[in-house]
Amino acid sequence: MLNLLQHPLLTHKLTHLRRKETDTKEFRETLEEIAGLMAYEITRDLPQKEITVETPLGKCKTQELARDVVLIPVLRAGLGMVNGIANLIPSAKVGHIGMYRDHETLEPITYYSKFPEKMSEAIVMVLDPMLATGGSSSAAIQVLKDHGAVTIKLVCVVGAPEGVERITIDHPDVQIYLAGLDEKLNGNGYIVPGLGDAGDRLFGTK
Ligand code: URA
Repeated sequence: MLNLLQHPLLTHKLTHLRRKETDTKEFRETLEEIAGLMAYEITRDLPQKEITVETPLGKCKTQELARDVVLIPVLRAGLGMVNGIANLIPSAKVGHIGMYRDHETLEPITYYSKFPEKMSEAIVMVLDPMLATGGSSSAAIQVLKDHGAVTIKLVCVVGAPEGVERITIDHPDVQIYLAGLDEKLNGNGYIVPGLGDAGDRLFGTK
């Protein structure tokens, strides 16, 4: 299910990310801030457990997070979203997944993966700023399910309708979070108007 997060601050920062004049430093900082702002909404339904703590004045019955949070950035652009969320959930564990598309079969191939233990009990957040065709996100989610993940949230910044549809069909159990839903994909699979190549802009490789 798609959750399109709308907040003036989020939209303002996304506007800055989209601008072609935004340089690498500002792109990196802004992407991290956007991920942090999105975390507030994404974590709204996290399960809690009751605990009692002692304040300086006495006992206080309260709650804390009941389940581990695992962040899985999809290499490489997803790396730009990790710190924004991990700053708010310092106990979060971070796994990694890297995928490429085989030129002949067009199938997504996992070239790297490393996940924490007990994935089945965790809230797993897949991080990738761009939800374009949805092919690599869908494949990454399948790899995580094969490793036992049950509760999976796909956290992207900008999405295309094609990607949203693909994930909704392939993984109807996965919640999708976006800060912007754009018009379409172009012939090269880029989101239009989008923000360009998120990895290149994040790491200054073009
Ligand atoms: N990946 C990107 O970095 N940008 C797009 O527009 C689509 C996929």
